[in-house]
Formats: sequence, structure tokens, C-alpha cells
Amino acid sequence: MGEAVGSAPSVAAAPAGQRPGRVLKVVFGLDCAGTCSYCALKTSNGFPRARHARLDPALAEPKIREVAEKYEICGLEVGAGETFDQPELWEWLLALNARELNVPVMAFTGGLSKQTPRVLDAIAASSAPVLLLFSYDGRRSERNSANWREVEAAFRAMKARLSVAPHVTLKLTACVAPRDTRHLKENFLSLLDLDPAPFAFRPLKRSFNDSEREEFVKQLAAFLDEASNRG
Ligand code: SF4
Repeated sequence: MGEAVGSAPSVAAAPAGQRPGRVLKVVFGLDCAGTCSYCALKTSNGFPRARHARLDPALAEPKIREVAEKYEICGLEVGAGETFDQPELWEWLLALNARELNVPVMAFTGGLSKQTPRVLDAIAASSAPVLLLFSYDGRRSERNSANWREVEAAFRAMKARLSVAPHVTLKLTACVAPRDTRHLKENFLSLLDLDPAPFAFRPLKRSFNDSEREEFVKQLAAFLDEASNRG
């Protein structure tokens, strides 16, 4: 639910005299060094043409103020692609938020951007609550089977860096591709081993055949048993 600079809103009307609440999606750019086969962004029409587009703060700031006059901005969602590759835009948005909006911020990251330390410094220094969703599908997953050691090390480093920033919440989030269903339990256990806390997951918007759906349910049940045994 939100208002991206340029998209049409779709939620219930606000009480009389109040502006309707909106989460504002701020898109820094579209690019990402990742190679996920299921990437909706990279498989979308026009991506090759638009991949190098970047948000221009001088153009975006007046638009954000315009939206803030029309709606009660109750949060910022930063997108798309790997936003950590744009540290200067993170610094700009967090400063604008501290000055004018002071609302919670949410974003995804794959954790492997070379600019991660600089972005984490800006996030740790920001005054507003930040929710960071760290995308990791597990050790045997289509996405991370080749780089899980690097990704897990990046997560541990991020968690350590943010341990001094109580206003920042770092959570793991996983996607499940049809081919991942046979390793679902092992993949989810690798997330639990990495961070013994609840994590978010979602099956990809792809067609799962009957045996993949059965395997998904079987593996998820086995994982939940194991997780509950661990308490
Ligand atoms: S990390 Fe995200 S944006 Fe990058 S390729 Fe993977 S799914 Fe796409």
C-alpha cells in the first residue's frame, strides 16, 4: 500500500478533516548486480533501457513535499533493485526524513553491495526507525547456493554493525522458487541457524506443479517441527 512518486493510490478514505495515510515508495534506481533468475525487475520489459535511471533529489524533493501536503505520509519504502549501491541517495533521503517527515523507513537489501558500510553508517545515524529486510533464500536455493558463505558473512557483519543502533531492525526474508521446494527445510534451517528469530518468506509468483506443491507443504511441516523442537 503506498504512493510511489508517479503511481495511483488504492486505500480506504481518511476520517473527516484528516489526510489519508500513505506509505511513500521512493525509487532510487532499478539496477542491481544480482543475478536472480526470478527477478521481476530484470525480466520486465524496458529494463535494459531504464536500468541506469537514477532519482534526482532536486526533482524528487518538491514532489515529496507535494505528496506530504496531500497525504499523511506514515512511512517510506526505498526501492528498487539494490538500493545500497546508491549511498548518496540514502544519505539525502534520511536527512530529508529527519528534517521534514520523521517517519519509519523500510527497504530490502541483498547485502553484497560494496557501498554497504557507508549506507549502514547513514542508517545507524538516522533518527527514524528503519526496517531492513535482508534477502537470503538459503544454502541450497536457486539464488544463493553459489554464494551462501559470502551472503551469510555479509549478514553477520551487518548485524554486528547495527547492534549499536536499536532503532534499526534487521530481518531475514526468503523467496521459494518451485525448484527450491525439495530443499525448503534445509534452506529455512540455514536462515534459522544464521539468525534464530522469525523470518519472512514467500513462494514466488510462479506455477508450482502438483509434486512441488506437495513437497512445499511436506518440507514446511518438517521445518516447523524442527523449529518448534528448537523452542
Ligand atoms: S537481488 Fe533483487 S533486484 Fe537484484 S537481481 Fe535479485 S531479485 Fe533482482
